[in-house]
Amino acid sequence: MDTTSIPDTLARLRQTFDSGKTRPVEWRIAQLTEIERMMREHEADLAEALRADLGKCRFEAILTEMSFVEEEAKYARRNLAEWIRPQRVRTPLMAQPGRSYIQPEPKGVVLIIAPWNYPLSMVMAPLVGAVAAGNCAVMKPSEITTHTSAAIASILPRYLDRDAFAVVEGGVPETTELLAHRFDHILYTGNERVATIVMTAAAKHLTPVTLELGGKSPCLIDKSADLEVAASRIAWGKFINAGQTCVAPDHVLVHREVAQRFIEALSQRIKDFYGEDPSQSPDFCRIASERHAARFAELLKGQKIHLGGRVDVEKRYVDPTIVLDPAPDSALMREEIFGPVLPVITVDEMHHAIKFVADRPKPLALYLFTKSKALEEAVLERLSAGSVCINDAVIFMVSPELPFGGVGTSGMGRYTGWYGFETFSHMKPVMRRSFRFDAPLRYPPYSDKKAKLLKFVR
Ligand code: NAD
Repeated sequence: MDTTSIPDTLARLRQTFDSGKTRPVEWRIAQLTEIERMMREHEADLAEALRADLGKCRFEAILTEMSFVEEEAKYARRNLAEWIRPQRVRTPLMAQPGRSYIQPEPKGVVLIIAPWNYPLSMVMAPLVGAVAAGNCAVMKPSEITTHTSAAIASILPRYLDRDAFAVVEGGVPETTELLAHRFDHILYTGNERVATIVMTAAAKHLTPVTLELGGKSPCLIDKSADLEVAASRIAWGKFINAGQTCVAPDHVLVHREVAQRFIEALSQRIKDFYGEDPSQSPDFCRIASERHAARFAELLKGQKIHLGGRVDVEKRYVDPTIVLDPAPDSALMREEIFGPVLPVITVDEMHHAIKFVADRPKPLALYLFTKSKALEEAVLERLSAGSVCINDAVIFMVSPELPFGGVGTSGMGRYTGWYGFETFSHMKPVMRRSFRFDAPLRYPPYSDKKAKLLKFVR
């Protein structure tokens, strides 16, 4: 789509929203059902697009993209009748007789801007919340994953109501044009730098934003942890999608007493998962672009590499790599790694690891492997993160009951499940009074006696 057609597209969506078409629960359920059907019927096409863009294997494509979206849509469809029901709340004596409730209403026309790392689910999972809440939506997939972007643009209009949903393909010019218009909510997933551009553009229209960002998600391993299980779970969470997962463990902080054993178990698990030469494994993804792959060659320069370390820019390939004790001021420890390179840092005491994390920006995810309840409590008490997962990595993403979002520089706002519905709804408070009784207490002329009575009617 070229930028000149954007105003017409937005006018069409606005007209649809204003017509009330998107409000009935039946319409929303029909759209959610279509999302489920689209994920099922085009599983093969979408998997092929993901393979072309990221070398994503079919299993990971199904698990983290198509089935993830389908489950999200199914969950919303099954719960929608409950979610849209007005919620009764207490009415204070001063407003009696009366009733109070919160009635969710759709925000209007919303914009979803997605990144390249989960190029399907980062468009479609937020869309589920927007549909459930009764909005019209414009989706802007990432231009870096061209095959998936094209697949979404061609398949989605065959399933969803074209008057209510539009896919705008393209990069910076198209997104800039979109952002010049007024939306009723913008959900952006991507990096911090662009997030400030999005938020600045949104501020011009006072549009609320949800920013789903990244950062360095740490993984703490205590000496009490089951190291074999920890190694499996961390290897999986780190190396799915070749580490290009916003909630992947970015680095490990491991207690000195178990560091060697953990590193050996992790190295073994990488070999078990991807073989002696992971470049031959059908299950190991590629980096999204040559530019992104070249970055790893730079990041690894001068580092102490325990396993892996090969970078083939042309083939967009980076080995699953373990780096030992990188300098805290090296680029590897300053930037979000966002690839299959895992620094393992040894600490003498777990409170050193806690301090290490506390001294840095609040991460999107925080992982702790321990059997110690006291350590678990200390970490939860002391450290902030978008989400915390104890004794596993990444798997918390499968729960539609847990909100997903960052805190501080890892993002603001949240979605998935009810929280996606809430994000794209205005929770409209309504108080309905009766004409039956009109207490004169609040009306002038005021008096000391009335002032004293006030505290009894709250
Ligand atoms: P990206 O380069 O695809 O950019 C994201 C979106 O921003 C794209 O749609 C792109 O067109 C748009 N964009 C880029 N430059 C722009 C500009 N100047 N003006 C307006 N729009 C612009 O993806 P990325 O940002 O490299 O994604 C990776 C980041 O996303 C990582 O930091 C990762 O942690 C984060 N991420 C977060 C989540 C989450 O849910 N919190 C999920 C996935 C990725």
